[in-house]
Amino acid sequence: MNETPAPIRSIVIAGGGTAGWMAAAALSLAMGASDCTITVVESEEIGTVGVGEATIPPIRLFNGMLGIDENEFVRATGGTFKLAIEFVDWTRLGHHYFHPFGRFGDDFGMTAFHQQWLRCRAAGNDAPLSAFSLTEQAALAGKFDRPPGSPGVFSTFSYAYHFDASLYARFLRRYAEARGVTRIEGKIADVRIGSESGLIERLTLDDGREVAGELFIDCTGFRGLLIGQALGEPYEDWSRWLPCNRALALPSERLADLPPFTRSTARGAGWQWRIPLQHRTGNGHVYCSDFISDDEAARVLIEDIGAAATGDPRPLRFTTGRRRNTWVGNCVSLGLASGFLEPLESTSIHMIQTGITKLLAWFPDRGFDPVSRAEYNRQVGAEYESVRDFLVLHYNRVERDDSDFWRMCRAMEIPDTLAAKIDAFERTGRLLDRGKDLFEAPSWLAVLLGQGVTPRAYDPMTLAVPENDAQRVLAAMRKVIADTVTQMPSQAAHIDRHCRMPAGQA
Ligand SMILES: Cc1cc2nc3c(=O)[nH]c(=O)nc-3n(C[C@H](O)[C@H](O)[C@H](O)COP(=O)(O)OP(=O)(O)OC[C@H]3O[C@@H](n4cnc5c(N)ncnc54)[C@H](O)[C@@H]3O)c2cc1C
Repeated sequence: MNETPAPIRSIVIAGGGTAGWMAAAALSLAMGASDCTITVVESEEIGTVGVGEATIPPIRLFNGMLGIDENEFVRATGGTFKLAIEFVDWTRLGHHYFHPFGRFGDDFGMTAFHQQWLRCRAAGNDAPLSAFSLTEQAALAGKFDRPPGSPGVFSTFSYAYHFDASLYARFLRRYAEARGVTRIEGKIADVRIGSESGLIERLTLDDGREVAGELFIDCTGFRGLLIGQALGEPYEDWSRWLPCNRALALPSERLADLPPFTRSTARGAGWQWRIPLQHRTGNGHVYCSDFISDDEAARVLIEDIGAAATGDPRPLRFTTGRRRNTWVGNCVSLGLASGFLEPLESTSIHMIQTGITKLLAWFPDRGFDPVSRAEYNRQVGAEYESVRDFLVLHYNRVERDDSDFWRMCRAMEIPDTLAAKIDAFERTGRLLDRGKDLFEAPSWLAVLLGQGVTPRAYDPMTLAVPENDAQRVLAAMRKVIADTVTQMPSQAAHIDRHCRMPAGQA
């Protein structure tokens, strides 16, 4: 006989940054006609972290799930389209490569495209892999277009966004409030936990108001007010692998041509980002304080932004890592309250998104079955580990020997899972896929090759295709991609035509 679930009747979201309003928007939609109330408590005085401007392609699924019109969203957030990240000076000074979204070429039946490319390269073809990425070639040319109805070569193309994080939170707030979410302005001063149940019962605000609930979502940022401070869930420190612990964020004037990619430039003790938005450019220096002073880090940033600054550098501090469990009792943490692996591959907002979708898949009733919680924690944990490995690859596989920071990164002991992946790629050109990677084969391929990891062999199955045929197909693909890019508009022209932010809106 089936047990009737005892549905959750009230959800309290503590915090209204990107995480809080993404959760509120998604839950307000998911709860549909149920009579579950959703309340967001946030404090304008405390404010939000205010950074987080670059994303990866799955964000389009999130916005799509909410039924958000893309042009309206880009206009409202000062957004631009992001095709890739350009890594400058990472492998060695003077070197650069792109991590584009989408795929390289088309697979040859069961054989991965890059294997035929490796084979043709061994036979003397000097075309770089990048020539077979429509996304990368468009990024290089400063072009952008949305895939047409019948995609053809665009089936290999993909994109994400750059946007203004506070405008995105504001946009989602309007969405959530229109669907019945209540917002309470106030500072949480106390978290009451039931002595027998061990569950959170209510939040007390500093003016004495109380906010009771059945399910609590902790989106209070680095503070982790509920999951960490009240429930005592430990934070696993991963700075032995990801040593950067500070950042300075600095806006500058808009770049006229709106390059459709994030730039990440390695510096002596970390790296610097450049994110083009419609109304300004986001810049920041992420660094490890063991190797550079804050003043020196600010000097490096200001000297290198290449445009007039429109504010002062804003400092941020963090410890890379994650909560051991991101769901404890009746409290699920999302965003910075659950962990932070630094912004190198723009994964944090994505982790909020997948935290929400996993929560919806394992949504509890008032019994809070521990099996659902355990599975949620396992899946979130695996995702954090796979992102960690991808990030560590950038730091560890470098030729740079010009600073103590880079010498330390080269010498660090890397996670076994990453070591196995690098080893398999060097031996066979194949990519280990253990079914939990956020980043798929093309991303690993771009970064492994970009960081100078070169396979010694290629797939023997490539030999099932005559070499001349393989060379011919490669040449034809390269031409289709080059011709397609020629016909695409510039990103600035595309935005002007479809989704320009109205003047004065920011
Ligand atoms: C340097 C840096 C660069 C980043 N770049 C990127 C990027 O390019 N791409 C990306 O995906 N992510 C990036 N991130 C991460 C991204 O900024 C966050 O994942 C995202 O903004 C979510 O933050 P949050 O909502 O968890 O926290 P916050 O923005 O800090 O929000 C916390 C909320 O909790 C509220 N709050 C806290 N305490 C209380 C209290 N006592 N009472 C009431 N309310 C309270 C605050 O008022 C606020 O509303 C970056 C992070 C950093 C540090």
